[in-house]
Amino acid sequence: MKILVAEDTKAGMAFMSAHIKDMGHEVIEAVNGQEAIDLFYSDRPDLILMDVHMPIKDGLDATREIKAECAKRDDWIPIVFLSGLSEAGDVVEGIEAGGDDYLSKPVDPVVLKAKLMAMERIWEMKRQLNEALRELELISILDPLTQIYNRRFFNDQMRKEYKSAVRDQAPLSVLLLDIDHFKLFNDNYGHQEGDRCLKEVSQILKTTLSRPLDVVSRYGGEEFVVVLPGTPHSGAQIIAGRLIEAVMLKNIEHAHSTTSKVVTISCGVATSIPQRGKSIAEGIKDIVEKADRNLYRAKQAGRNQSCG
Ligand code: GH3
Ligand code: MG
Ligand code: MG
Ligand code: MG
Repeated sequence: MKILVAEDTKAGMAFMSAHIKDMGHEVIEAVNGQEAIDLFYSDRPDLILMDVHMPIKDGLDATREIKAECAKRDDWIPIVFLSGLSEAGDVVEGIEAGGDDYLSKPVDPVVLKAKLMAMERIWEMKRQLNEALRELELISILDPLTQIYNRRFFNDQMRKEYKSAVRDQAPLSVLLLDIDHFKLFNDNYGHQEGDRCLKEVSQILKTTLSRPLDVVSRYGGEEFVVVLPGTPHSGAQIIAGRLIEAVMLKNIEHAHSTTSKVVTISCGVATSIPQRGKSIAEGIKDIVEKADRNLYRAKQAGRNQSCG
């Protein structure tokens, strides 16, 4: 572990530092609370040993500040207080300030070793928990079949983009895309081939979109949705054309389609500069419904094209 030791006496620091290094950890040294805070930001230690009484800024204030910053970042860093045996009040105050444990001074090397082992165990558990949480977060927004974002992600993204479009009075465009005659594709080639086709179309849509903010999600069965923040109607139409062309040019055979020999998609376009006053849910519903109506028109007009 990378351990930050905040201790104002030279002898105390030399003692702690030597023992911690002996245990195979890296030591960063701070001589007051302010230095501890600065080193917390710049070096991101895994654990802090914090003396209570220090000049400039004491260990309690430094702990409060570091713990508050951690809370903001959804992060956690163990802080162990160093406090004289006679200073029971320090211990209480230290724990109240956000400290996780304490060590009595003069520090017994055997106790120091045991506490570091215990903290390392908690730290490792926390690391594993964070990793699992990150994985879960990702799973909850990805579509398992195609590995592109799912509808839940789209809902969150759309709310976020809608709000910033209201704030900036900027255009927000949405594309609804639907594979043409996909039922016939499944009937002809089987469900597994259908799944493979969905994956392939997903990848084409994903890679054809070039701006980082333009994101495609799987909206439903063989339907996709693309959010285009800050994009006016003319730009959205161009992107729709590009996506339609990219799918067609991939030449995925579709012998039973009545409108083409290869897999094609149709697209409904909708753009709005969201107005203040309308509720977010209502505003989003209006854009998506408009895109859906235009998708229907694209189907009626012969498929493999966009409307709106
Ligand atoms: P249109 O051109 O009007 O869109 O015709 P369509 O056949 O594509 O539309 P329809 O809504 O009638 O059929 C959609 C089909 O998509 C039916 C369903 O079996 C298929 N489908 C939906 N989700 C999946 C999936 O996850 N995997 C596979 N293989 N097929 C799916
Ligand atoms: Mg001191
Ligand atoms: Mg459909
Ligand atoms: Mg379809």
